[in-house]
Amino acid sequence: MKKEVVLSGIRPTGFLHLGNYFGAMRNYVRMQDEYDCYFFVANWHSLTTHPDTKELQNAVHRVIAENIACGLDLNKVALYVQSDVPEIAELYLYLNMLAYKGELEKTTTFKDKVRLQPDNVNAGLLTYPVLQAADILIHRATKVPVGKDQEQHLEMARNFAQRFNHRYGEVLPEPQAFNYGGELVKILSLDGNGKMSKSENQLNTIYLADSDDLLRKKIMKAKTDQGPEETNSAKPDYIDNLFTIMKLVSTPDTVEKFEHDFNASSAGNCIIRYGDMKKQLAEDLIAFIQPIREKATNIQEDKAWLSSLIKLGAEKARESASATLKEVRQAIGMNYS
Ligand code: ATP
Ligand code: MG
Repeated sequence: MKKEVVLSGIRPTGFLHLGNYFGAMRNYVRMQDEYDCYFFVANWHSLTTHPDTKELQNAVHRVIAENIACGLDLNKVALYVQSDVPEIAELYLYLNMLAYKGELEKTTTFKDKVRLQPDNVNAGLLTYPVLQAADILIHRATKVPVGKDQEQHLEMARNFAQRFNHRYGEVLPEPQAFNYGGELVKILSLDGNGKMSKSENQLNTIYLADSDDLLRKKIMKAKTDQGPEETNSAKPDYIDNLFTIMKLVSTPDTVEKFEHDFNASSAGNCIIRYGDMKKQLAEDLIAFIQPIREKATNIQEDKAWLSSLIKLGAEKARESASATLKEVRQAIGMNYS
């Protein structure tokens, strides 16, 4: 039986962090046996907000290397760079004729970006959801693992597919949001200000590329407080976040010890010592990140191998993309020879 097609992209706006790993990568690794997976580095999308390309090549290489180091098996999935698949750009062009200025201007992410970069409201930013629809529809993907912020874009992708099918005939299936495994992990930044992010608040984000020393420094500086004032208090979100991370990288015994300390008191004083908790967490994080970091660096340094992997990904992606584009062209009637 043909497997369902899953598609997901990641913008090379920086290196991968703990949130990307536990919120996305870990699920991708689990999905690779069950689905026909296409994962890509969205370098065209980066240009809408990051026109300076000095760091782009390194970021693309690092993200590819990190994806593999995290466990993606290139015999099972197609891992490719968006700009290596020109078929996407052609489908984007056709879909642009079916997307209306009014609806694009109303998109929440567009309005947010206009506020963030009022001096660079480029047409690429406006048509971001159209390019994203092309990314998905080019492989006729039906499952797209996305967070809540992307729900509106997916709705637009469905609308563009519907309009295409209505006008030219059934070619493009409608994609659905997909929450693999049920629970969505969200990792906050270490100062409690928003979430960890590739491109923002980097001193409070744990990157898979961080050195052991930097990991220790970041964790030891993470926001804490005097500790709970009475037993069984609710945890403030920055403390809860440390426990969340601990649950992901430490042993159950360790988590249980600090949960116990958080809730226990001795002579009326709560006994948790955040300094000790952070020391333990730093060491467990190092043990978790070190092998991924080293593997990614080895892959990145083997330029010839990395380049062959990128070519292989492009070939796989183009095979699927050109099959769809052929049908798209036929449906529109753009086949003249
Ligand atoms: P940027 O700062 O460029 O927006 P980002 O860190 O938000 O980067 P994205 O490329 O937007 O990363 O998202 C890639 C994937 O990682 C998405 O599936 C997203 O839901 C997930 N993700 C990003 N940040 C977190 C986080 N802090 N916790 C959990 N999941 C996250
Ligand atoms: Mg983001």
